[in-house]
Amino acid sequence: MQVFTAEFGHYHRTRLTHTMEVVGVARTIGRALMLNEDLIEAAALLHDIGHSPFGHAGEAVLDRLLHDCGGFEHNTQALRIVEKLERRYIGFPGLNLSKEILEGQAYKINKTVVPLLEIQAVDIADSIAYDTHDVDDAMELGLLSTEQLVCTPLWKQSARRVRQQWTNLNDAEFRQAVVHDLIEIQVSDVLQATQQRLDGGITELGGLTPPFLCDAPMIAPSAEITEQKREIEQFLMEHVYQHPNVMVCRRRVADWFETIFDYYVSQPERLPERYGTIIQQEGTNRAAADYVADQTDRSIRSELLKLSSRKVG
Ligand code: MG
Repeated sequence: MQVFTAEFGHYHRTRLTHTMEVVGVARTIGRALMLNEDLIEAAALLHDIGHSPFGHAGEAVLDRLLHDCGGFEHNTQALRIVEKLERRYIGFPGLNLSKEILEGQAYKINKTVVPLLEIQAVDIADSIAYDTHDVDDAMELGLLSTEQLVCTPLWKQSARRVRQQWTNLNDAEFRQAVVHDLIEIQVSDVLQATQQRLDGGITELGGLTPPFLCDAPMIAPSAEITEQKREIEQFLMEHVYQHPNVMVCRRRVADWFETIFDYYVSQPERLPERYGTIIQQEGTNRAAADYVADQTDRSIRSELLKLSSRKVG
């Protein structure tokens, strides 16, 4: 969920390493189902590109700051980046992405049709990756203990399987083995459940051509694992995403973003030159938000230092 930021040290996943895990899991699923792996990889690399620094905490602040002019949402921002903000080609703004990739990203904003199977594979791989690594990271950071996790069926199942296979594991080895098993259980389940849907649900070739005849994703976990994932997500929400340490960090991020945003809204001429067009076309608030959203966790800190030295000056 990208709640652990640079504030929490350097062990935990970042947006980049999360993305690499999603690429890996999604390609594994895609290969087993003989899907287009290149399309999967591109969609997975794109899926979180619109997040601002400090993940969901940053997104919430920007959304509030842009309340009167359209708000801020990371999936929408991802499309904005690849269609407008990136300047990689002389002849046109944005990146040179295929229609399938852009439509796949647009689906995340407006879920009216079931997307391509490749996009479905990325969606479920994203969920498998964060349900697993948020548990791993939270344990590493001391926010969760093994004893607490035992009440979640998904963890309990993996822990039992690991104990059956190995004896005399130390705590670190045990956690590592359970984390691997959590991925294994979820990926295997998605492949099995998808196979069952394919066996039972497709009555004509048109069934796999978008728009799909079915009204639910084809590539998805079984009902049992879906429920277990829901329970572990609920558990993470209560014990990790709303943990006091995480909430302190969220409030700090809100202060930082407001400081930088207010500074550039009041002095838009200080923004880099490339934001000039956005100021003209969409106003200073949007330009300042794009600028803040374009930073990294680390560059936000140096930006604050720069601003405070200017104030002192
Ligand atoms: Mg993600």
